Amino acid sequence: MYLSVIVPCFNEEGNIDLFYDETVKALGKELMSDTELIFVNDGSRDATITKLRALCDRAEYRVRVVSFSRNFGKEAALLAGLEASTGDFTSIIDADLQQKPSYIVDMLQILDEHPEYDAVAAYQQERKEGRILSLFKKTFYKVIDSLTDIKIMQAASDFRVLRRPVVDAILSLPEKCRFSKGIFAWVGFETYYMPYVVEERASGTSKWNFWKLMMYAFDGIIAFSNKPLIMSSVAGAVVFGLSILYLIIIVIKTILWGDPVAGFPTLACLILMLSGVQLLGIGILGQYLAKNYTESKGRPVYVVKEELDNGADRKPH
Ligand code: UDP
Ligand code: MG
Repeated sequence: MYLSVIVPCFNEEGNIDLFYDETVKALGKELMSDTELIFVNDGSRDATITKLRALCDRAEYRVRVVSFSRNFGKEAALLAGLEASTGDFTSIIDADLQQKPSYIVDMLQILDEHPEYDAVAAYQQERKEGRILSLFKKTFYKVIDSLTDIKIMQAASDFRVLRRPVVDAILSLPEKCRFSKGIFAWVGFETYYMPYVVEERASGTSKWNFWKLMMYAFDGIIAFSNKPLIMSSVAGAVVFGLSILYLIIIVIKTILWGDPVAGFPTLACLILMLSGVQLLGIGILGQYLAKNYTESKGRPVYVVKEELDNGADRKPH
C-alpha cells in the first residue's frame, strides 16, 4: 500500500516543520516509509518555500514539493496535489495542524475494515466558529441542496482519504473552475463520514474571510446548478404577467373614471422594480457567461515554478 499525503500551503512558514514532525509521529515508521508527502506551495509570500527546501534535505522520509509561480488558490493546490499523487490511497490535509495527522491512520483503518467504502471524509461534529459564519454556511448548504441534484454533506471538510479510483475520477473532470466539495459529491462513490475535532491553528492566520467565502459559495452554486438561470426566467415571466394585469386595471380605471394625471409614485416604483429584476437577470446570466469564458480560454489551473523530490531514490513507488 502506498500513501500520498497532499498538503496545500499558503504562507505556512511556521507550520511546515511542525507538520512534518507531527505527521511522522502519528503515522509511524512503517507507514511513513510507504508514504510520499506532497507539499503544494501555493505562491506563498513568506519563507514557506525555504522551509520546504530545508525539509526536503533533512527529512528521512519521502517529501515532494510542487511550488506555484503565484497564489492560485486552495482549489488549484488540491488539483496539483492530486495530479502529482501516485498512491493507492491519497489523503488531503491542511498544513496548519487544525486537522490532526493521526486521523489519517484512523481513516485508513476504516477503509481497510470496510472495503465497500471508497473514501473517508472527516466532518466537524461541532463547528468552532462564530454564529454568523455558522449560519451563513448552513444557509449555503441549504441553498445548494435545493438547487442541485448532488448531495453535499454539511460540515464535511476537504480532509479526506481517497482510494485510487476516486482520485482518477476526480482528475477525469476537465473543468478549470473547480469547486472540490461539489466535485467530491459529483463523482459519487461510497463515502464514510468520520467525525473529528478541529484544533486551533498551530501558527499563522486563516486565509479565508467572509467575502472570500461568499464568492466561493457563489462559485459552487454556479458550477453545479443551472437553476438560477431558470429562476431568473421565471421571475421575468411573473413580472410580465403582473404588468399585463396592471395594464388591464389601468385601462378599466381610465374607461370608468377618466384619465387624471396621477400615479407618479406607482410609475417610479414600477421602473425601479423592473430594472432591478432585469439587472438581476443579466447579472445571473453574466456569471454563467463568465464561467464559460474562463473554461473556453482553457488556461491551466496553475503554473508550476519549481518541483522538488528528495526521495525518488529513497522510496520509489
Ligand atoms: N491554502 C492554500 N491556498 C490559499 C489559501 C489556503 O493552499 O489560497 C491552504 C492553507 O495553507 C491551509 C489550507 O489551505 O493549509 C486551509 O487554509 P486555512 O487554514 O486558511 O483555512 P481554514 O482552516 O481557516 O478554513
Ligand atoms: Mg486552517
